[in-house]
Amino acid sequence: MLLKRPPANGFVTRFAPAPTGFLHLGHVASAIAVWGVARAFGGRVLLRLEDHDQVRSRPEYEEAIIEDLHWLGFEPDEAPVRQSDRHSLYRDALHRLHAHGLVYACGCSRKTIERATGPSDGEIRYPGLCRDTPVDSAAEAARRVRMDRCTISFEDLRLGRIEQTPSDQCGDLLARDRLSHWTYQFAVVVDDLDQNVDLVIRGEDLLTSTGRQIQLSELLGRPMPPAFLHHPLIVDATGSKLSKSRGDTAVRELRASGQNVEQVLGAAAVALGLSQGEPVSHLELAARIKDAAVD
Ligand code: GLU
Repeated sequence: MLLKRPPANGFVTRFAPAPTGFLHLGHVASAIAVWGVARAFGGRVLLRLEDHDQVRSRPEYEEAIIEDLHWLGFEPDEAPVRQSDRHSLYRDALHRLHAHGLVYACGCSRKTIERATGPSDGEIRYPGLCRDTPVDSAAEAARRVRMDRCTISFEDLRLGRIEQTPSDQCGDLLARDRLSHWTYQFAVVVDDLDQNVDLVIRGEDLLTSTGRQIQLSELLGRPMPPAFLHHPLIVDATGSKLSKSRGDTAVRELRASGQNVEQVLGAAAVALGLSQGEPVSHLELAARIKDAAVD
């Protein structure tokens, strides 16, 4: 079942791909979840191109994403926005946090952090080495936001209650890196707040990020965090998530090989439990999402 209970009426959700490659079936599954839930329960969908990674993002991928979404029948309700046009928004948000004494400059490299924390096979928790470095005196471009210890709990629409303690997971959050690039974790929270996104629908690979994003949204003065729905992922035969960089089949290759939209939707919808692989229409997908949630 994609979701256990319906979202609140009139919600705003978003599809937020990074233009670092072509769309593949994993993205189609995500788009089905986003547009399917919006169509089933009357929400609006925004399209945000998350090109915060200025090294890997390419305009040709952005163009291809928009074209593939159009071919698939996923149209956003507003003109798309791109993160690289929104730097002043991120700067303003950082200033607001700074005014509350929540920002410091950080000169730590990955090596320095690993030396202090010891090797880890999971996520590296920043141990706060630069916590006392004032922003104004530092030459470093990197900025961190203090994440004091607190446990965040939220109700995922599919998975139920989740609890996370960001200070134990990642420590103080990197908002801008040493090359002055805004990080995903920071930009996504500022964007969701600015665009009034109140339902975030995305893959469960991002579940561990949710607590820290809620904590940051609170620090930015957001009175109520968005609701969250983390959907299952398409995995390959070895159990790993599909990825553009590993060259999993792109939507445009499926299209060029003669597959039609319903076939591509049907193949992607398997991961969401909405199809057995048979071709399926948008209308049918929305109906299946709705029926499962209200049963
Ligand atoms: N840009 C992220 C990605 O492509 C999605 C971010 C999100 O939905 O929060 O995986």
